[in-house]
Amino acid sequence: NETALFCIGCGAQLQTTDPAKAGYLPAASLAKAEDGEELYCQRCFRLRHYNEVADVQLTDDDFLRLLNTIGESNALIVNVVDIFDFNGSVIPGLHRFVGDNPVVLVGNKADVLPRDLNHNKLTNWLTQAAHAQGLRPVKTILTSAKRGDAVDDLLETIEDLRAGRDVYVVGVTNTGKSTLINRIIKELTGVEDLITTSRFPGTTLDRIQIPLDDGHFLIDTPGIIHRHQMAHYLGAKDLRLVTPTKTIKPKVYQLEAGQTIFLAGLARFDFIRGRRSGFTIYADNQLLLHRTKLANADAFYEKHRGDLLTPPRPEDLADFPKLARFEFTPKEKSDLVFAGLGWIVVPAGVTVAGYAPEGVDVLLRRALI
Ligand code: GDP
Repeated sequence: NETALFCIGCGAQLQTTDPAKAGYLPAASLAKAEDGEELYCQRCFRLRHYNEVADVQLTDDDFLRLLNTIGESNALIVNVVDIFDFNGSVIPGLHRFVGDNPVVLVGNKADVLPRDLNHNKLTNWLTQAAHAQGLRPVKTILTSAKRGDAVDDLLETIEDLRAGRDVYVVGVTNTGKSTLINRIIKELTGVEDLITTSRFPGTTLDRIQIPLDDGHFLIDTPGIIHRHQMAHYLGAKDLRLVTPTKTIKPKVYQLEAGQTIFLAGLARFDFIRGRRSGFTIYADNQLLLHRTKLANADAFYEKHRGDLLTPPRPEDLADFPKLARFEFTPKEKSDLVFAGLGWIVVPAGVTVAGYAPEGVDVLLRRALI
């Protein structure tokens, strides 16, 4: 016969069952607590003691409520996306919710891009990709939350554009939003006690509010899960193997029509028609690339996925989706993008096919390089 307990930091109801949800507190900490002691959830505890932000997962309903609240307030919206997985970072319908509020698009993880990549081109591409989703950012900025690149630019832009309003930072999980927020907290405050958390009105969610100097706040919102990310098909260990963390060193393959390259067991590239050509692959430096004959590729995949072609690991094979195939004949030099994994530069006029686990996007964009 227990009475409900609430976190004194964020107001979320405390629970000991799901670390990914709001109000989580390890059962052991709860057991140690004295009668009547004021309790923090793990997230608020970390925030207070280590200046560290942990993400909380949202249900779709909570997320809709959150978006509605943002739409009803007069604020600047900062939308963080992963430049390596734009489609996996899109918040469906965000443009409908932001109303008249301006949006700054932040393309994070710029550090993984090779140096010969033109940042203007990438910025333009990101902006256009946002337009295709109906979102019209007033500004697009490339950052590296990990290295700290352009975080000061971002803060200047925010200061310029917010014009005395609150700032909401929104993004799906895995885009690096927490890392970025932690950077911002350091730059803006440097003092942990300045950070306050408070309950998000109308929901059981907490939010993190970083005070700005005019009584307004920069508000971190919990990340929403995007199911079309490669990340959701891989364990944490494998994810580290395939998501580029260091600057990518591109690899060039001279291919004849009728050849296939496997990107571990996660994706596949077929060169179907066209002259012998060079194909440049941008993916994590550690990712296994294996060339074989197109004619045998299906059988090769059946036989070797989970052993030679790993990840996925043998124990993950049962849950790993089938690869879906997409065929393209680009009219101009293009990037064949495997969402979240990387891309292959394809010359104009050749016919190729890209494969990725069902649900993960394979798409064509104008070559960035
Ligand atoms: P969130 O779920 O959006 O809050 O994302 P996290 O901040 O937890 O980051 C997700 C993953 O991306 C982690 O493995 C981070 O180390 C990584 N990450 C975050 N920012 C960057 C960045 O700027 N560059 C790179 N290479 N990785 C990053």
